[in-house]
Amino acid sequence: MSATSAPAAHQRRLLDVQALDTRLAQIAHRARSLPEHAAIAELDRTERTLRDELTAARTVASDVEREAVRADTEVEQVRARAERTSARLAAGGAAAKELQQLLAEAEALTRRLRSLEDAQLEVMERQEAAAEAVERAEERAGAVAADRAGLVAARDTALQAARQEHEQVGAQRAGAVSSLDAGLVELYERVRARQDGLGAAALAGDACGGCRMPLTGTFRSRVASAGPDDVVQCEECDRIIVRAGEPELRR
Ligand SMILES: [Zn+2]
Repeated sequence: MSATSAPAAHQRRLLDVQALDTRLAQIAHRARSLPEHAAIAELDRTERTLRDELTAARTVASDVEREAVRADTEVEQVRARAERTSARLAAGGAAAKELQQLLAEAEALTRRLRSLEDAQLEVMERQEAAAEAVERAEERAGAVAADRAGLVAARDTALQAARQEHEQVGAQRAGAVSSLDAGLVELYERVRARQDGLGAAALAGDACGGCRMPLTGTFRSRVASAGPDDVVQCEECDRIIVRAGEPELRR
């Protein structure tokens, strides 16, 4: 038991301060554990994944784009050669052997052109698919960004409300503590810092209202015989045990 003493009325008012401190801790806890925090963090992870997907889709699209340009160039080149060959054939006047070569060349070029045009078509299809994939990824990223903005707004509103409530209760607390015995407040703050924010508790029947341990043995008799202004600290948890006005424990 501490040797300090403080007016019994101050000790009882300390419980009001404790109640306000508990409320302040609850408000802070509520602000920290808003469901929006977890939801925003989850969306941040989704956004990172989508960003990677979008980058991958854009890379595929630009690769296919280059392939398409190459395929177009090849088709044009072979088509031009085929046209030149046809023109020479149409001009006539070629010797039999040259004519044979030109016909063979024209045939080969036609085959080559056909296969290049098939390839060109296939690249165009992939180009379309790649563009769609980019569009889809952009849409998903946009939807997630909108969801996130909504959650951020809700979180900020809730945090603002918590801040206001915290300020109000904090002002009440400052008023409640200002007229109390300085030594008592100092002891309360010290114990509260060590004991999970609970520095003072009412005597609960035969037990400490802080740790719920029953008062026993010599400690119990010391509490029972303590003067009203004696500051009693729990033997188990060190918290200030605030007694009601009249003696509660049988001696
Ligand atoms: Zn205790």
